[in-house]
Amino acid sequence: MLAGPVRGALPTDARGWRGRAQAFATREVGPVAQQIDRDDRVPDTVVRGLAEEGFLGLGVPTEWDGTGGDTRSVVAVLEELSRASAAVGVLVAVHLSVCAAPVLQWGTDDQRERFLRPLARGERIGAFGLTEPGAGSDTASLATRYQKDDTGFILRGTKTFISNAVSAGLVLVFATSDPGLGHKGISAFIVPPGTDGFSVAQRLDKLGLRGSETTELVLTDVRLPRESLLGVEGEGLRVALGALQGGRVGIASCALGVAEAAFAEMLRSVSAEDAEWKRSILARSFADLCAARALVARAAEVKDAGGSYVNDASVAKLVAARVAVQIASAGVDLAGPSGVRSGATAERLLRDARVFPIVEGTTEIQELILARSLLPAGTERNPL
Ligand SMILES: Cc1cc2nc3c(=O)[nH]c(=O)nc-3n(C[C@H](O)[C@H](O)[C@H](O)COP(=O)(O)OP(=O)(O)OC[C@H]3O[C@@H](n4cnc5c(N)ncnc54)[C@H](O)[C@@H]3O)c2cc1C
Repeated sequence: MLAGPVRGALPTDARGWRGRAQAFATREVGPVAQQIDRDDRVPDTVVRGLAEEGFLGLGVPTEWDGTGGDTRSVVAVLEELSRASAAVGVLVAVHLSVCAAPVLQWGTDDQRERFLRPLARGERIGAFGLTEPGAGSDTASLATRYQKDDTGFILRGTKTFISNAVSAGLVLVFATSDPGLGHKGISAFIVPPGTDGFSVAQRLDKLGLRGSETTELVLTDVRLPRESLLGVEGEGLRVALGALQGGRVGIASCALGVAEAAFAEMLRSVSAEDAEWKRSILARSFADLCAARALVARAAEVKDAGGSYVNDASVAKLVAARVAVQIASAGVDLAGPSGVRSGATAERLLRDARVFPIVEGTTEIQELILARSLLPAGTERNPL
């Protein structure tokens, strides 16, 4: 994909980025949101616009051709884009959080030069290939294998449910040297599509987040040079889990955007003259929305402050995903029969919302992360 230069002066804070994203979403995304859902495709013009607005370089320093911006700016943009179309928000979230961010964090200067610059300029879309047909939540049980030889690595295996992979200009692929080694066998690799033996196989049709491409990837004796290894050999799971931790803050803000869109729809269905139960649902939904918003903001703040944000990320993701489903579901109830008609916004929002409890660590996995942190083995229990 060829992107033009970034348009105009860049915002300097989260408020400025939010305004830029709001304007873009209203102008370019909202009008095609139903089309994206129906065609299961984000138009190239929208992807080009995302690059030209500088959204695809967020969080990457300008020295690497990024557009800077802290996590608060990133979540503001993802929220606004997702409010218009969850598929567009998730495209950007995956590109930034689980592809560009780990290349920035773990890449050598040579890898940043070759791979991060084009990602940050929006010339390449990034993807993250961890999940396999037999390894989702249990990330340590990967079956995709790699072997070393004199020139580099050879990868074999299948990945599934990989977002952005059709258009991706770069995929981070996780593979193990020996499944018997568990998490210690896993390494991370940078794989540019077009590499021999690497193919995007079946495209998966989905209930929601339609337009966000989800595909299988097949790696048949993919030969990679030594410089393709991202980070230290055997520490790939650290790369993956670090990326997913940041990714959860991003996905939480996408879920928040969907919850806001569903709430806006709900407001259209309820009036002051309506029955008390309807007004109660509206009030409850508003309170839930405020809670989710505060948790996403907190996770972004703690991340920006450089502290440990593992719990904040899990809480924000768990709650924002749940609230999105609740509000979107109540919105369909309040809209009456027209809410379930194909092509109704309330119906699309419910289908989109339903995917958030699954992606980037299911709700149950967030609960496991939190339980482990709240109940550390062998230490006094004082979670507060
Ligand atoms: C739209 C979409 C986009 C995605 N994009 C990507 C992507 O870009 N890259 C990528 O690598 N992956 C991606 N995924 C995969 C996603 O991360 C996995 O689906 C998710 O991690 C769950 O894995 P699984 O599907 O194998 O389910 P499983 O791990 O088999 O889980 C099935 C159910 O069991 C529960 N469960 C599992 N283990 C436990 C446990 N120990 N305790 C309690 N409950 C448990 C889970 O919560 C879930 O409800 C995507 C998925 C979707 C739906």
